[in-house]
Amino acid sequence: PAGDLSSTLRRIDGRGYGAYRDCRGAYAFPGYTLTINHVQADPFAAPSRVRVRVPAGTAGYPSSCTRTKGRRIALADHLARRFAAAVDARPRRQRGSGKSGSIAIARPGREILERSSVVVAADGAVEARFTVGLPARGRTVLGREAERLFFEDVPEIVRASLPYAAVDAEDLARHIRTNEDADHLRSSLDALGLVGFVADGAILPRASGVDDRPLERERAVPFASPPSLRVSVDLPHRGTLTGMGVPKGITLIVGGGFHGKSTLLAALERGVYNHVPGDGREFVVTDASAVKIRAEDGRRVENVDISPFITDLPGRPDTRSFSTENASGSTSQAANIVEALEVGASVLLIDEDTAATNMMIRDRRMQELVAGGNEPITPFIDRARPLFHDAHVSSVLVIGGSGDYFEIADTVIRLKEYLPEDVTAEARDIAARYATGRLTEGDGNFRQVRQRIPHARSIDARKGKYEAKVSAVGTRAIRFGLHEIDLSAVAQIVDPAQTAAIGRAILLARSSMDRERTLREVVAAVMDAITAGGLDVLSPYPSGDYAAFRPQELAAAISRLRSLSAGQAP
Ligand code: ADP
Ligand code: MG
Repeated sequence: PAGDLSSTLRRIDGRGYGAYRDCRGAYAFPGYTLTINHVQADPFAAPSRVRVRVPAGTAGYPSSCTRTKGRRIALADHLARRFAAAVDARPRRQRGSGKSGSIAIARPGREILERSSVVVAADGAVEARFTVGLPARGRTVLGREAERLFFEDVPEIVRASLPYAAVDAEDLARHIRTNEDADHLRSSLDALGLVGFVADGAILPRASGVDDRPLERERAVPFASPPSLRVSVDLPHRGTLTGMGVPKGITLIVGGGFHGKSTLLAALERGVYNHVPGDGREFVVTDASAVKIRAEDGRRVENVDISPFITDLPGRPDTRSFSTENASGSTSQAANIVEALEVGASVLLIDEDTAATNMMIRDRRMQELVAGGNEPITPFIDRARPLFHDAHVSSVLVIGGSGDYFEIADTVIRLKEYLPEDVTAEARDIAARYATGRLTEGDGNFRQVRQRIPHARSIDARKGKYEAKVSAVGTRAIRFGLHEIDLSAVAQIVDPAQTAAIGRAILLARSSMDRERTLREVVAAVMDAITAGGLDVLSPYPSGDYAAFRPQELAAAISRLRSLSAGQAP
């Protein structure tokens, strides 16, 4: 019972901070169970981890909110936001030194994701995982303050955010409907022959480069589909929705500088995730396996077969097994493409702003000057068609600078003052009138990429006395033992909780590596384990730190570990 916690807190009042360890355990509070899992070492250390479980009966959610996994994810995501808002709404209460009295929960961004901060069980029980700073003055336990924290502050937040009775039912229903419609829309793409969809009325531009909220209504031009690319889709809740379908094949996004090309591609990049109501991108969806590709010079590459794009590098004749500590723009981009294909990307998204020019284009004149044998790179313009034809991988390319691509495009979308026009016919006509004289390079085939077999022994997260020390640095990097995995070029990691989860997932992946399992299989095994057991399989005790991620990003992180060694499957 909760009374035990208060008597313990009274007993340890005034003692050394270590005495807080006596508080570990589970306590029945009115309406929920509070569990104190882990107690911090001192008031300045990472705060203590606690969780609150509200049983289904008390939580009171109707089965319409909990019936499917998708609905439970949307419900939990909504409650995570409410909990965070309730924490913010409460006046800051410093209850002693350092982090004393703090309450914190992982802060969701604009995506609706499965999160470990709030979990809704199949039976409708709701559990929130958060941290508290156990109060002290210096290193002396402030038992009274701790009592106020657990008996006033926490109950107030829990009651204000978690039970159905506290929630605006219409807000919640909208969250669930939006999520379900977006899932439905994404799973409709394939049958419609599409790789992406952008709804009419969508708001694509963001408030700023560092603020993912929508650009204010007065300044944003809502999306409007060109008639020839207009598709309508019936959604379970929204009914009929119209918008622009991005067809399978090769799609170019062209247009003048600053006319919104990169903004459209960025929205498609994020379209692998669902977005919260009001975001503007609720019905902008992309094939779930779409991968943003960019140049990433300086990255490490381990035993990747980049020969579909690059052969005969100076001093490295065999690019079927390419490794480097310091990739160039073009070799990094080639490795990024091959690695994406290795884990099963069926769409590549490339923006000229972040691509290596020599990897994308080579015009007739340059073909003449740097003849065949001296140029190791087969540019993407010669690989995109075989890639689609043989491997069924589509490309969506922002290209403002080279009309050579008209030759190979299936669809050409021109943006003019942020609005798309279908200029496919015009581009074909231009291609017919102005011959480029380009010679096609490459053999016109795209064979399957070689699968790599990662070696468990090359993955080591030990640090000092710790068996595994893994932490997230925002969405930018993972500290992995003595290594830092740079993820700044992995564009589709969008939430620090994903980075944290991927860091732990690498450890789980490692445990299933053996001499025969390919990276793709190892990553799939991790995804299966999470599907079966939830994000909690990532840590020894329930932690609120994680959010769902894709196999693509887990593989991307493993591939960027500088210690990685890998063989290739026969
Ligand atoms: P491009 O890649 O064509 O050069 P960007 O996509 O970078 O252009 O967009 C240029 C600017 O226009 C950015 O500041 C972006 O936020 C803004 N923008 C993009 N789309 C819209 C829109 N639909 N409405 C208003 N502003 C937009
Ligand atoms: Mg741009």
